[in-house]
Parts: sequence; C-alpha cells; structure tokens
Amino acid sequence: MNDLWIKKISIKDNKRIEIEFDMSGKWKRYVYNKKFFCEYNIEINSVPDSLMIIPLLGNLLPIAWLYNLNICIDVLDKSFYEYLPKVLQGYENMYPNYQFHNNLKVKCLEDNDYINNKIEACFFSGGVDAYYTFLRHRNSISAITTVWGSDVKLEDYIGWENVYKAVSRTSEMYGVKKYIIKSNFREVLNTDNLSYDLKHDGWSWWHEFQHGMGLITLMAPVAYIEKISCLYIASSYTSDIKNLTCASDPSIDNYVRFNNCKVIHDGFESNRQQKIKYIVDYSKKYNKSIDLRVCWISQGGKNCCVCEKCCRTMTALLLENGELERFGFNNKYANSKKIAKNMKYKNSALPRDWNILHERLHEKYTKKTVPKEWRWFYKGGTSSINNNFIYRVKRKTWHFLKKVIGCL
Ligand SMILES: [Zn+2]
Repeated sequence: MNDLWIKKISIKDNKRIEIEFDMSGKWKRYVYNKKFFCEYNIEINSVPDSLMIIPLLGNLLPIAWLYNLNICIDVLDKSFYEYLPKVLQGYENMYPNYQFHNNLKVKCLEDNDYINNKIEACFFSGGVDAYYTFLRHRNSISAITTVWGSDVKLEDYIGWENVYKAVSRTSEMYGVKKYIIKSNFREVLNTDNLSYDLKHDGWSWWHEFQHGMGLITLMAPVAYIEKISCLYIASSYTSDIKNLTCASDPSIDNYVRFNNCKVIHDGFESNRQQKIKYIVDYSKKYNKSIDLRVCWISQGGKNCCVCEKCCRTMTALLLENGELERFGFNNKYANSKKIAKNMKYKNSALPRDWNILHERLHEKYTKKTVPKEWRWFYKGGTSSINNNFIYRVKRKTWHFLKKVIGCL
C-alpha cells in the first residue's frame, strides 16, 4: 500500500522525457496524472535513467516525506541520493510540527561524475530576483533557463510567446545561452488536495513544499549534457524575515545536487529594494533597458501596471530614480500619480513588502519634499493602504463567507 513505482521512462523526439508510473493507496489523493513529461530545447538522448528520473522525483519526494508514502525506483544518481537527507533536514527544520519520513527505495545507485566545464547557469523568470542574480553574476553566468509550466500555465500560449520572446531578447542582448524547459510538473499533482491537507497557516502546496526542489530538479538532464557546474536560483525572500515558510530556501535548495552540479540559492541577504537599486544602477551604467516581468494577474506575460505587485515594483523603481518605461512598465497606468491612487483606493499591502518602501520614502524625502500624491503613505505607512474602502469590503466579505460557508 501507498507505493509509487515507475513503469516506463522514454525519450521522444530526442528532446522530451516521458515517465509513466503507477501508484496505490494515499498517493491517489495527491497525484492526478500518471504520465510526467519534461521537454527541452536541447537533445537529451544520452542522459542516463538515473538522472532522467530526478525531475519527477524532485516533485514527488516532499509528498512522500510528509505523508509517509513509498517511492520505489530502480536506479538513481548517487550524488542526488546522498544529499537527500540534507534536503529533508531543511524541510524538517522549517516545519518542526510535522513528522517526516524517508521512504525512498532505490535498487541501484549510479555515479555520473564528469569533469566540469565550469558553466554556470541561472533560473530566469524575468522578475526582480532573477534579474538581480543574473546581473550580479553576469561575468560567470553563461546560460539562463526558463520553465513553461511554472508561472505561465501550459495552456497560456500567448503568455508563453511573450515570455519566450523576452527571454530570447535577454539571451541575445547579453550573449548567453538559453535553456527552455516545458513540463507538466505542476499539473501531475493534485495541488488542491495537497494544499487543503496542510496543517499550518501557509500558502499553497506549491509555495510551501514544491517550487524550490521542483524547479531545480528539472535541470538535472541539462546539467549532465551541458556539464554545468553551478546553478543559481534567485531568492524571493530575505534572511531577516522571521518564521517564513517557503519551499525555496537556502536550507533546502543549496543541498539539491546532481552529479557535480551544485545549486546556490542566491540573493538571500538583499531585500527587494536593494535588488531594484542594483538593477537601476546597472541599467544606467551599461545603458540597457531591462524588461522586468513581475505581474501576477495579467495573462500574456506583460505587466498590467495596476495590480499590487506591479505598483510595488514601480514604486520601488521610482524611489531609485528608475524610468518606468526602461523596465517593462509601458502603459498609461505607469506613473507615480496613478500608482499612488491605485494603492490608496484599491489595493492591499503586506507590511513586510511595503514597510521597506515606506522606509525608503522617508530616507529620500522630508515631509515637505515628498511628492504630493504620496503624502498620505509617507504619513500613514502600510496601514494607510489597507484602510481603503474596497479592501475593507473585500476583507469583510471574505471573513463573512469563511464563517458562514466555512469553505475558504
Ligand atoms: Zn500587474
């Protein structure tokens, strides 16, 4: 009972890995689809099975560890296997109230050592964190990697086309290779059930348990073919945030290893404002436009310039004297007055995100010099955003529904 086992691993068209598996017991509550795929823009025929299995394993292991389920496989990369206890330790330290179990059963370990070519690559979404990591390691990074099926859904063709074009532009502009991965790694899992069954006040399964190791392991076949020695994944948070739970964390990411490729969770020491300052300074120094992609509501891969995250990023850019149109914010809402109005009357804000902007506003301006449209924020801080009428109505409705229906 509660076993998951591999039926077949195959390569299609030289570039696509397909893994068919089957399962019993509780696995069926958490996994939708018995066929996993990941597709690359390079040929991966010569990747051994012991590495081809890693992209799937990276997404299943947190489920197995948390719910005491078994995974049975024939062969696995020795290095990946040997580092797993440290990855698991990262989860255990982050979630001390859960009991984890390691039930991975492997018949044979394979050594996939090779001589490193010293190629360094980084995950690249086009967001602030990714750009910061890419630009600050600009001299050593020679490839960027983007995943279709992560932020952009597999059915969002228009969104992906825009992302692909933006990644291609970055790759050409900076003379680096691009690795493109398409995978159903999110869709194979029943994330509704996984998120519902969490016993702590976190976000979703994706945020809390999946996206660090889930994304990183997709690169195992590429790392083998391209002989990558180091893979960067940009941090979303900073080390000074207390009691944060997130699947992408140095205590987890830094211990994912395949053959000789190490992983570095990068930028954990810098907050978002410091990263944006670095990006603005870089853009000025080298006279380059930088197409940031930060929006989390618009389909189509472009910034809406209206949502909280767009407003937050634009505010941060303006505070560092960045010209918005040079950073991918190009529509009629991209100006200080409209951003201030959106935040004052429509959006809500997390103190952890907006307190940094409030501090920066105070550093830069006095009561007299602060732009008129931002005086209310200068004076009232983050709570003055969350006092707006629309947000208060939304919050009250949400609490009401939660109480009456109990389903939120
Ligand atoms: Zn937006």
